Amino acid sequence: MSISQAIEKVEARYAHQPEFVQAVKEVALTIAPLYDAHPEYKKNKIFERLVEPDRIIAFRINWENDKGEVQVNRGWRVQFSNALGPYKGGVRFHPSVNQSILKFLGFEQIFKNALTGLPMGGGKGGSDFDPKGKTDNDIRRFCYAFMRELHHYVGKDVDVPAGDIGVGSREVSYMFAMYKNLTHEHGGVLTGKGVGFGGSLVRTEATGYGAVYFLENMMAAQNDNIKGKKVLISGAGNVSLHAAEKVFMLGGVPITVSDSKGTLYDEAGLDQQKIDWLKKQKDQNKPLADYVDVYGGEWFAEQKPWQFKGDIAIPSATQNEVNEDDAKLLVENGVKYVVEGANMPLTAKAVDYICLHRVHFAPGKAANAGGVAVSALEMSQNSVRQYKSFDQIDERLKLIMKNIHDSAADASQKYNQTEDGYIDYVAGANIVGFKRVADALCAYGILN
Ligand code: GLU
Repeated sequence: MSISQAIEKVEARYAHQPEFVQAVKEVALTIAPLYDAHPEYKKNKIFERLVEPDRIIAFRINWENDKGEVQVNRGWRVQFSNALGPYKGGVRFHPSVNQSILKFLGFEQIFKNALTGLPMGGGKGGSDFDPKGKTDNDIRRFCYAFMRELHHYVGKDVDVPAGDIGVGSREVSYMFAMYKNLTHEHGGVLTGKGVGFGGSLVRTEATGYGAVYFLENMMAAQNDNIKGKKVLISGAGNVSLHAAEKVFMLGGVPITVSDSKGTLYDEAGLDQQKIDWLKKQKDQNKPLADYVDVYGGEWFAEQKPWQFKGDIAIPSATQNEVNEDDAKLLVENGVKYVVEGANMPLTAKAVDYICLHRVHFAPGKAANAGGVAVSALEMSQNSVRQYKSFDQIDERLKLIMKNIHDSAADASQKYNQTEDGYIDYVAGANIVGFKRVADALCAYGILN
C-alpha cells in the first residue's frame, strides 16, 4: 500500500476524527521522499502501523463535587507507540477533549518525543472535565478520582503522564499523591511534579523557553536575531507567559497575550514585572482584562492577536486557533517567523498560506518539544535520585532545541530542498522524528 492509499484509509475510517486526520495527513504528505529512500518501511507497513495506537484505554470517572453532587466524566489514555521508550505525554482536562483530539495529540507526541533524542514513546490522555469555575476541592477530588482509574495502566517504565491544558503542577501533585497512595511507590510516574518532591527545575518554564530557543536558532539561520522585534503571542497559560518571559529576557518585545475572552495589547511591551503580574492573575483565575487598569495597554474583547503589526508570532493557546484568514493577517502585518507554542495551532490551510509566502515556520512538534524534553530529564533525575541545578537543565534544554532545529533543517535540505533555500521545518521535523521511530520498528520485526 502506498502512503496516499494509507491516508485514504485513515480518512475513510476516521472521518469523524478531523483533528486526527489533519495530523496524520501532515506527516504523511512530508515523509514520501524518506519512504522512497527506505523500501523496508513500505515492506514493514510502518506508516499503516503508526496511525493505529497500540491501545486506547477509556474509563469513567465518578466523583463528588463541592455541593455533594455526584459527577460523571469520561477519561482516556491513548498509548500510541512505545518504540523508543515508555509511553510519554500529557493529560488534558478540557470540555473539548475527545478521542480525535487525544489521538491527534498522541500521534504528534510520538514524533515530538523522538525529535528530542531522549528515550520516550508517545501517548496522551485526558478528560472532558472542565476545570473552569471549579473550586480547589473540586479539582482535588477530580484528580484523585481520575488517577484512581488511570493508575492501573501507567508506571515509571510503562507510561508517564504529565500536564497539558487544564493540568499544571497542582493537578499533577494531586494525581501523584493518589498514585503513591495506591501503589506505595514514590517513583517518576508523572512529570511536572513540584520541585522538592520529585519535580525538575525548569520544567514549568521549559515549553515556552524552548519555543523561544528554537526561534533563536531559526533566526540565526537567517542571520537575524530577536533584539527589538515585536512578538505577538496568543494564550495566557504556562506556554505563553514563559515564551513572553524568554522573549523579554532576550531583548524582544512581547506585545500581546490572549485568552478565550479576548486579547491584551500593550505596545510598550511586557516586561518581567508585568509578566509576573499576569502569572499571578491567571493563577488566581482572575480576568486578563484587569491588566489595563494597572499597566495600561488595550483590551480587545472577543479578538485574536493577529490583527497587530509584528515581526514574530508565537501561537500558544490551542489547536487550530490560527485559520487561513488569520494567516493572511499575519503576512499582511509583516510577520516573518511563526513558531507554534501550542500543539497544531495552525490549520493546514494556514500553514500552506504562510509557507507559500515564505514566512519561516516552526511546527509545534519541533518548537514546543522543550516541555517534554525536560520531562525526560525529570525522569532521569528520578531514576538516579539526584537533582540538577536550574542552569544545568536550562543549558541542556538549549542544546536539545538546537539539535532539534539543526537536524530538522538538515533533513529539509537533504530530502526537500527548495530552489530559494527556504527551510521546510515541517518536512524536516517529520522526517527526523519518523525515521527514528521507523528504524526501531524495523529492528523489532513485526511486534508493535
Ligand atoms: N503536554 C506537553 C506536550 O504537549 C508535555 C508532555 C510531557 O511533558 O510529557 O508536549
